[in-house]
Amino acid sequence: MAGRFQGKVVIVTGSSGGLGSSAAAMFAAGGAKVVLTSRSIARLEKAVQGCLEAGATQEDILTVAADVTVFDDLKNLVEKTMEHFSRVDILVNNAGLMLTGGIMQATVDDLDNMLTTNLKSAFILTQLCLPHLIASHGCIVNVSSLAGYAPAPTFLAYSMSKAALNQMTKSIALELAQKGVRVNAVNPSAVLTELLTKPRGPIGGDDPAKIEAFMKKVCTTHPPGRIGQAHEVSDVIGFLASDQSSYMTGQCLPVDGGRHATIWGCMPQPQPPSQS
Ligand code: NAD
Repeated sequence: MAGRFQGKVVIVTGSSGGLGSSAAAMFAAGGAKVVLTSRSIARLEKAVQGCLEAGATQEDILTVAADVTVFDDLKNLVEKTMEHFSRVDILVNNAGLMLTGGIMQATVDDLDNMLTTNLKSAFILTQLCLPHLIASHGCIVNVSSLAGYAPAPTFLAYSMSKAALNQMTKSIALELAQKGVRVNAVNPSAVLTELLTKPRGPIGGDDPAKIEAFMKKVCTTHPPGRIGQAHEVSDVIGFLASDQSSYMTGQCLPVDGGRHATIWGCMPQPQPPSQS
């Protein structure tokens, strides 16, 4: 049976690990031709293996080295995709960078880095892919964050970049709706990836004790009492990229175990023992 992405060409940025490699494997499992990209081709090896294990053949996979903050790299990424596969159906703007710090710690360089990596790259790559996405009646899924919805004083610039990405998602969705191109975003909360364990990430290193403390905290702030898994985000990316969501555009969907609804920290309480 043909997969739901049979004949489709997908570009996933930041696909060397975390949510990006999970999304690449999910698309490969659906029969897509997948363009994996990262700053270093060597770092894509494991993700390529994941796609092969999911059912892709070597011919279904293209790897391109690209730093998403460099315009010429993004241009080359789209040119190589067209040379190789002659079309683009789905663009997943996933590459991202998180440097913690509020207004008292964050530097202007931090702000520039996060706006360039998390926002400007998605803007440029969308423009570069646009003629091809219009031709294919394709779609875009931006990987935003729950931090784009709510103030995040401990990661100010990151949340600013993701709030702008939400706005960009909705605006471009309106502009392209009648051209047959859908634009949506996923807004994950916490998934344990390198984004969190980098020295300036929220965990601040890969020390097991720090990771354990973080996981414990996540369990108390997320209604299911556990952290999210990468596949739980990439499955929603797949839904938004598939025909199953053909009447959805301009959505920024929290994938957060209900965290967005916990205003005032309301969490499910243990049930009192029954009186009977
Ligand atoms: P990750 O660190 O594993 O992945 C980020 C990817 O982006 C990596 O492959 C990295 O190499 C790539 N990248 C960063 N800067 C780049 C650059 N200049 N050029 C090319 N590639 C670059 O972390 P992840 O959690 O998988 O992050 C993926 C996306 O999910 C990000 O946009 C992130 O903001 C978002 N997100 C993650 C979480 C989470 O809890 N993990 C929550 C909300 C949103």
